[in-house]
Amino acid sequence: MNLIKMVDLAGQYQAIKPAIDQAIAEVIESTAFINGPAVANFAKQLEDYLGVKHVIPCANGTDALQVAMMGLHLQPGDEVITTTFTFIATVETIALLGLTPVLVDVYPDTYNLNMEQVRGSITEKTKAILPVHLFGQCSNMQEIMDLAHEHNLYVIEDACQAIGADYIFPDGTQAKAGTIGTVGCTSFFPSKNLGCYGDGGALFTNDDAIAENLRSIVNHGMKIRYYHDQIGVNSRLDSIQAAVLSVKLPHLDAYNASRLKAALLYNALLDGIPGLETPVIATDSTHVFHQYTLKVPVEKRDALQKFLATKDIPAMIYYPVPIHQQKAFQTIKSNNQFYPVAENLAKRVISLPMHTELSEEQQIYIAQAIREFFG
Ligand SMILES: *Cc1c(COP(=O)(O)O)cnc(C)c1O
Repeated sequence: MNLIKMVDLAGQYQAIKPAIDQAIAEVIESTAFINGPAVANFAKQLEDYLGVKHVIPCANGTDALQVAMMGLHLQPGDEVITTTFTFIATVETIALLGLTPVLVDVYPDTYNLNMEQVRGSITEKTKAILPVHLFGQCSNMQEIMDLAHEHNLYVIEDACQAIGADYIFPDGTQAKAGTIGTVGCTSFFPSKNLGCYGDGGALFTNDDAIAENLRSIVNHGMKIRYYHDQIGVNSRLDSIQAAVLSVKLPHLDAYNASRLKAALLYNALLDGIPGLETPVIATDSTHVFHQYTLKVPVEKRDALQKFLATKDIPAMIYYPVPIHQQKAFQTIKSNNQFYPVAENLAKRVISLPMHTELSEEQQIYIAQAIREFFG
């Protein structure tokens, strides 16, 4: 059996190596390293895949979030409602722009925004709701969009972990994660479901004027070269990464399907262990399993991680500290919310190896080890 890794990108590369190597070589031969045709081609290809009007490539997922908020002209003091149970980038970018992050708790089953708390957190300063489609499953977008319309708010989707997931509206129609709100953001960090071979990211929108503004912001606030209409940033997807992504995008559905298959096998293998909860699949979203996350009793979680390590099985805690308890965020004013679910999850979650190259043999070995631990 091969060494088990949390994320294994080697096997995936081997399977498409000739196409990747050729795509990279072509960019190098062309020397169109920055904003070359490979970038525009990939953006077009992703627009078609997602069924969205505009894809604006940028340097990484964190930049995508920052640029989204700049592009919607959010001003210091404006409030953005988001989850406390997320990766730091979601909230960091809000704070960096001088906006006020208003954190809410999550649901214990899907880990997504608690809508009661979102509703209760809306003030006259609220400008946007920022749902994070955590671990690969969409937030409750219908309810979020309805609430946003009611209060005239923007919706910025953090779809960094959910590219390719489908949200299923109550009427049965579907839309890809990140294409429903005002602006969607994603990351092409290597370990993401659609990862490049370095850093990369993108913004999505169906609004022509917002798209034009986002394009200007990622390019130093200019439309005509050296005429700067607003303060922007330098955030580009480089051509080599775009070329890699163009080769990988046609495989994304198959990659996501193999993650789902692995998740369902884990579910079956881990069924019936007292105290252990396998992931819940929502009825209104497909799940692309960016992470396969278990909930175990608080007092057993760290011991399980250590036990698995003795058997050469990596396992990670996403995330050990909710944002409201992070040192960097102690000065952010509280909206008088409590976060019992997020605080409990932070002590109970443990994510198992999840990638496109997991073998059944490896999963059986992992599940046996977990059963042994729970005795
Ligand atoms: C990965 C990730 C980001 C940031 O993406 P980078 O490309 O690493 O900057 C933001 N939000 C979430 C939820 C993520 O998982």
